[in-house]
Amino acid sequence: MTAPNLVIRAKQVVLPQGITAASIHILEDKITTVANYEDCPPGCDLVDAPDSSILMAGLVDSHVHVNEPGRTDWEGFETATRAAAAGGITTIVDMPLNSIPPTTTRAGFAEKLAAAKSKCSVDVGFWGGVVPGNTSELAALLGAGVVGFKCFLIHSGVDEFPNVTEEDLRIALPELTRLGAILIVHAEVPGPISRTGIPAYHSAVENAATAHDNRVLPISPHRNVCATEYETFLASRPRAAENEAVELMIKLAREFGTRVHIVHHSSADALGELRAAKTAGLRITAETCPHYLTLAAEDIPDGATEFKCCPPIREQENCEQLWAALGDGTLDMIVSDHSPCPPEMKLRESGDFLAAWGGISSLQLRLPLVWTEAQRRGHSLEDLSRWLCAAPAQLVGLQNRKGKIAAGFDADLVIWDPQRQFTVAGQQLHHRHKLTPYEGKTLSGVVAKTFLRGRKIYDDGEFVGEPRGLLLTRTASTSSSESNL
Ligand SMILES: [Zn+2]
Repeated sequence: MTAPNLVIRAKQVVLPQGITAASIHILEDKITTVANYEDCPPGCDLVDAPDSSILMAGLVDSHVHVNEPGRTDWEGFETATRAAAAGGITTIVDMPLNSIPPTTTRAGFAEKLAAAKSKCSVDVGFWGGVVPGNTSELAALLGAGVVGFKCFLIHSGVDEFPNVTEEDLRIALPELTRLGAILIVHAEVPGPISRTGIPAYHSAVENAATAHDNRVLPISPHRNVCATEYETFLASRPRAAENEAVELMIKLAREFGTRVHIVHHSSADALGELRAAKTAGLRITAETCPHYLTLAAEDIPDGATEFKCCPPIREQENCEQLWAALGDGTLDMIVSDHSPCPPEMKLRESGDFLAAWGGISSLQLRLPLVWTEAQRRGHSLEDLSRWLCAAPAQLVGLQNRKGKIAAGFDADLVIWDPQRQFTVAGQQLHHRHKLTPYEGKTLSGVVAKTFLRGRKIYDDGEFVGEPRGLLLTRTASTSSSESNL
């Protein structure tokens, strides 16, 4: 066998079969061998991780809103992928909306690829979108390399990416099944939300005009609500909206045989249905996000719109049920749903939860956020690696290449210290915008070094080298390949 040109070794390496001391032999961009710790051939570069640190596969984040082209002032490929590298993430998958154009046509995807070219510090894959009337585009989008498709069952927040109804899905799903493509779903339906009587605002312009301090809204002859109280926002996005949406998607997955995945799941009341569907053998998976697992509605101050996202952060009791569902496999993975916007769209001055943009930026913080709470609950590093690396890689068809440390896989690796603590300071994050609901939180887990396909890209606070992230496109012939576009 050809000698490696790089060996990275550690006393604690997270491998699919458990945690052990090991030397990872790397030739160019691939792992060639997982060897004994002492096995380090002479003449190759050696990176020796400190005894206290963990060597793990680079994280995969399958839910990131990069917003370029068209809304690059919200984030962009350059800042998003640098934040990823600093957070130990070596692959992100971009969402098809908030960019203009959205990735709902072959032409829109071409614009997205052109915008991302030569700017990415980590590897980037792309979701396409299912919107009313674009069924004829789906085959071309898949052929051009999207990893699968996303849809909304409720207003997406931007007008150029309209939501679908059950009727629309009955047109799109047979095509998705025929193509063997996965559908990922924003699972809230409008019915229970409109029945609350609390108004929802979608357009950013309309929102800024609407918001003012302590806005009180009469929602029935007997009841007023105050837009600056978190409770009002939480009441406006009830669990029933998620529960009914999950129910609908289970029904349609059963009827059409489509592979379905529920994104950013929040309502604990739907976990039983999900569990039953999985037990019955349906091809359905679900993710949740750090904010649903580390924050609680009871603790959110009035006017703190940096905590607004959809579906909302719910009560502590709900949060504990989500952790239990991760433990028993009902929820499969934890991804960021990094969804930034310019800080003024958060309307922090008026503190109007109903009019503020919904979305939380947490790409760079996913590892320490999840680890801090996971270890408190007795979850292992193997669990962490499955939720943050292997499961999201599998979701997007990269399970033979990313998300694990194994021979033949990309040499995407992160060295991090699980015990070292730090305090979150938004100004020090590499996201384009610094407003964060985690400001001032003390977290465990500091990323020391990140390697992308055998090259160091991040080293103790410094970025190394030019951006060399690949744009990963799924080719028609295999389900897990790539090209360097
Ligand atoms: Zn999202």
